[in-house]
Amino acid sequence: MEKLRQILRDNHIQVTQQRLEVLRVLRELNTHVTVDDVVSALRERDVTLTLATIYNILSIFEKKGLIMKIESAGEPIIFDVNTFPHFHILDSETREVRDFVDDNLMEMISGYLQEHPVSGLDMQRIDLNLIGHME
Ligand SMILES: [Zn+2]
Repeated sequence: MEKLRQILRDNHIQVTQQRLEVLRVLRELNTHVTVDDVVSALRERDVTLTLATIYNILSIFEKKGLIMKIESAGEPIIFDVNTFPHFHILDSETREVRDFVDDNLMEMISGYLQEHPVSGLDMQRIDLNLIGHME
């Protein structure tokens, strides 16, 4: 738990027992998770938090950069525990989400956007989803 406490402190998040529990399951799941995944993982540990509390904690974690939201038009919202720059493949049939890491592509896109900035946009990050079915 001490390591988890430190992670919260390093990200300027006030340490509470509930936040530690949510962070612990996120790190155990260590992948792309929906709120439902978090709820059931907490339940397995006999931790009962209201849905509102869980949403609230995830939203704080997201704002502080501890997790990131994978933007996609479809529900449900998927959070990513890995916040290093990477893309995603969304399987349109199985709804599975996979990491797609291509540093050259990331450099190409960010290089292009540095040369051709979008006027008025204070860009925070680049998110690219490839959508299709994996054989
Ligand atoms: Zn990912």
